[in-house]
Amino acid sequence: MSKTEAPFGLRQRLEAMFCSNDQRHTPLTVTRSSLPPLAEYVAEIAPLWESHWLTNMGQKHEELRQALEDLLEVDDCVLFANGHSALQATLEAMELCGEVITTPFTFSSTTHAIVRAGLTPVMCDVRWEDGTLDPECAETLVTDCTCAILPVHVYGNVCDVEGIGALAKLHNLKVIYDAAHAFGERVGGVSVARFGDASVFSFHATKVFNSVEGGAVCLRGSDGLRRRLELLRNFGIVDEEHVEGVGFNAKMSELHASMGLCNLRHHQENVKQRLHALARYHERLADVRGLRFLSPVDTQTAVEYNGAYCAVAISDGFGVTRDELHESLSKRGVFARKYFYPCTNAYACYAGVLDPNETPVARHLSEQVLCLPLFAPMSYDQVDFVCDAVLQARA
Ligand SMILES: *Cc1c(COP(=O)(O)O)cnc(C)c1O
Repeated sequence: MSKTEAPFGLRQRLEAMFCSNDQRHTPLTVTRSSLPPLAEYVAEIAPLWESHWLTNMGQKHEELRQALEDLLEVDDCVLFANGHSALQATLEAMELCGEVITTPFTFSSTTHAIVRAGLTPVMCDVRWEDGTLDPECAETLVTDCTCAILPVHVYGNVCDVEGIGALAKLHNLKVIYDAAHAFGERVGGVSVARFGDASVFSFHATKVFNSVEGGAVCLRGSDGLRRRLELLRNFGIVDEEHVEGVGFNAKMSELHASMGLCNLRHHQENVKQRLHALARYHERLADVRGLRFLSPVDTQTAVEYNGAYCAVAISDGFGVTRDELHESLSKRGVFARKYFYPCTNAYACYAGVLDPNETPVARHLSEQVLCLPLFAPMSYDQVDFVCDAVLQARA
């Protein structure tokens, strides 16, 4: 394979798309990473060429941490190299043992983090309306071995934080939110990062707010936990001569923090543009038979949504199956994604351990769901191109 050749014929596919019928619109991928103006990033990293301080909690790391603590309204924000290490470190720092109630309707990271932290995932089914953990189902899964609940604000749909909080209180369980999709959201004016014992964010390039790779754990006043997280992400090193824990390396570099600082300045504008495009999707597709939006339809609810995803569920009434729609869209240069299919409890690596039939709603939902392209800025023309392709797929 030559240096420029992408695997799996992707390059050929993309070339075909660029040369296809409508060059103005395609290819349209499910997301497109937000980038600041190049000059802004160059100015941001210029001081690093003076200081030669590239990683290990320097000036940029400090600035980003401070900015995020202010924005997310939390006492502590511990930055990580990525969301996955932040999630795993949180479970380890809490010194948990036993079973963690969670959902399979998520990215692999959520389940893997539990298993890699030496804990046992117990799969709870999700709510049909929004794909988040069903607290009533969770209640039936609590045993003497349960130590924590790890729900996911999937697509930025905020979980039933009250129901989950009440259940956790009743049984003395920790609550760790996988908030990878929920950056910057607010519920009734309260930052989403303030629920539970910890909220974990991902700043991966594909997320609403990115630092290329990155993540954070948000805490509300738990000094001990913050210290353990800081130790874990840096080999357990206290100082030159003292190592207190069997940590790993998950520090956020100065270059990543700089990208975060730049993107943060444009975050509000990006969210506005995403919501604008999402509103157009709703306008065009709300009344289509067999198509249901899993992303909030309007902003009349108590949630200030971030426009992370445009997720729809395709059922029988639509005319063609989800997979047929997915295929038909890709032929037109629209690369939607089946987030989240399959459910994590259907992965080969969990065969014989987890069973997708134990969570029938999640399984059913995963067979229907499709995420349509959504990014900032996405023009009405681009949204209309996708909507036309969706409607034409039925014929
Ligand atoms: C992206 C994501 C993660 C992991 O984040 P990374 O920064 O990619 O490690 C965890 N959970 C969910 C739900 C995600 O979408």
